[in-house]
Amino acid sequence: MADLTIPENVYDVIIIGGGPGGLTAGLYASRASMKVLLVEGSYTVSQITLTDMIENYPGLPGITGFELIDRFKKQALSFGLEIKAEQVSSLQKAERGGVSLWMVSTDTTQYEALSVIISTGAEWRHLGVPGEDRLIGQGVSFCATCDAPFYRNRDVAVVGGGDTAVQEALYLTKFADSVRLIHRRDRLRATGILQERAFANEKITFIWDSVVEEILGDNGVTGLRIRNLKSNDMKELPVDGVFLFIGLLPNTKLVDGLVSRDDDGYIIVDSEMRSSAESVFACGDCIRKSLRQVVTACGDGAVAADSAGLYVDKLKGQEY
Ligand SMILES: Cc1cc2nc3c(=O)[nH]c(=O)nc-3n(C[C@H](O)[C@H](O)[C@H](O)COP(=O)(O)OP(=O)(O)OC[C@H]3O[C@@H](n4cnc5c(N)ncnc54)[C@H](O)[C@@H]3O)c2cc1C
Repeated sequence: MADLTIPENVYDVIIIGGGPGGLTAGLYASRASMKVLLVEGSYTVSQITLTDMIENYPGLPGITGFELIDRFKKQALSFGLEIKAEQVSSLQKAERGGVSLWMVSTDTTQYEALSVIISTGAEWRHLGVPGEDRLIGQGVSFCATCDAPFYRNRDVAVVGGGDTAVQEALYLTKFADSVRLIHRRDRLRATGILQERAFANEKITFIWDSVVEEILGDNGVTGLRIRNLKSNDMKELPVDGVFLFIGLLPNTKLVDGLVSRDDDGYIIVDSEMRSSAESVFACGDCIRKSLRQVVTACGDGAVAADSAGLYVDKLKGQEY
């Protein structure tokens, strides 16, 4: 394979996604002198920029999501990473002079690469109940950090029982008069310290074993119709806003039919972040794994870049 002629404009690797996973992959790949492009999205953003405070990224306690991403970016740029703010619309296989490539099309341009790293993250699942779609942005929110200040001295609900739901409920108490946390089970899934803070916060009350059946309101949220899963009783809860944190959906439509995914749509990778397609690697929240956090996305990103590097070196006959 050593006599492969690779066209000048072909990247060794294109990374799709500019969150902690993609930017760490970008840092490692550019520092390893690969020809690398990171496409970070033009209208999507990293999930971590939706939170105001991160307490569990080692070494940087209390940093905001924006600042952390900014630091990741600056560090990767210092090693020559090229970053484009474009939205990737498709990924297709192609061949040039016997070389197998990926054509990465964005809203404005088309790029080619020997390998790709998918780090497109995940987004919050919708409830799928009447009123929800109509009232998104008018009282239905997926980001307390973005929207909490609109609810100063008002009453809100949070749906969910995991870390993010509890963390965001706590954040909302800085602004709202009351926060009702609605959870389908009779206990929280969130980590101990968050639970302790939530139970100690007098602005938060818990509505257990319950689900939202409808979001009420015409031009803004005025309340929720809630069903108790044990008694089947329905009740109306007057609130001015509702924040939904009921689980994630991976952003993996781009690789539909190209790589193996699990039943929930997460990309299946091995411990080297290799997908089922030889030159496609994946990292961060979009892969099948147990813990979706900044620290794990960064770890995955480093491994994905290393594996893409090994793949490209082998392709070029430059194994060390
Ligand atoms: C409210 C909230 C609070 C959180 N708090 C914490 C916390 O305290 N600690 C912690 O460790 N984790 C926290 N998380 C989780 C953390 O944000 C994620 O685990 C982490 O961001 C995953 O990184 P990622 O790179 O995989 O994905 P993301 O950070 O979500 O990045 C995905 C990237 O892909 C891009 N993208 C998507 N589709 C396309 C496309 N078609 N074309 C181009 N680009 C695309 C997006 O624009 C974005 O740049 C929180 C998440 C939320 C929502």
